[in-house]
Amino acid sequence: MEDVFHTLPAMKVPDAMNRLDQIENRNVQALGGLHGDRGNLRFYRENNGQNAFKIEWGVAKEQGFMNPDCILISGHEKGVEWKPFLDAGLVPLAHSHPFHRDRITSSRALADRGVLWDDINGASPNQNLTARLKVFPSAGDFAFCAAQGLATHIVKTPYCVVKELHPKIVWIVNPDVAHFAAALRLHFRIFDVVELNRGHYRGQLEAMCGNQIFWHKRDVHAYGGGGGGLTF
Ligand SMILES: [Zn+2]
Repeated sequence: MEDVFHTLPAMKVPDAMNRLDQIENRNVQALGGLHGDRGNLRFYRENNGQNAFKIEWGVAKEQGFMNPDCILISGHEKGVEWKPFLDAGLVPLAHSHPFHRDRITSSRALADRGVLWDDINGASPNQNLTARLKVFPSAGDFAFCAAQGLATHIVKTPYCVVKELHPKIVWIVNPDVAHFAAALRLHFRIFDVVELNRGHYRGQLEAMCGNQIFWHKRDVHAYGGGGGGLTF
């Protein structure tokens, strides 16, 4: 299959997850040592990985092993085609969200350099829903977790978490703002998702940078799946 990449010996969970982090760090070494379709690998490694950073990537693991083998799956701009891997009995562990500035209508960049975390997490009265839609997992991500009965699923994002200590403010910043290139990326853990009614999902969400959980929301709702946003 031309969208599957593996290593010899097979990569384990930490290596596979680290590769997603490296993709979000816009580091072409994410694709080092991979085996798979040569033409695609060449394409993704072109221009220091620019083609790879514009698409979503998935990590799937074997089911029922203590230390499962993993594969890396290349998707497209809107998602990963999980079906063949689900049919093969693999478990979707994580996926990455893309970053690019192609076409103003589909650009993944936040307006200006970034957004205040409180302006997208429900805390402040003036919520920036456009930015929230780009930064947060999609309703489709929640629907996917429910449909597949996933206990937990990780969504890696390209956006940087930048903290100001005095006062205590968190910014979510575009990854191509040079000054913040080394900042940790934002990722989410989705868990406990259930379908309450047809097309209405409720789950929990944690926002993390590195291994630190800096935000947790219990009642996060999603309606209808697809590219829509979350409600909380
Ligand atoms: Zn997603």
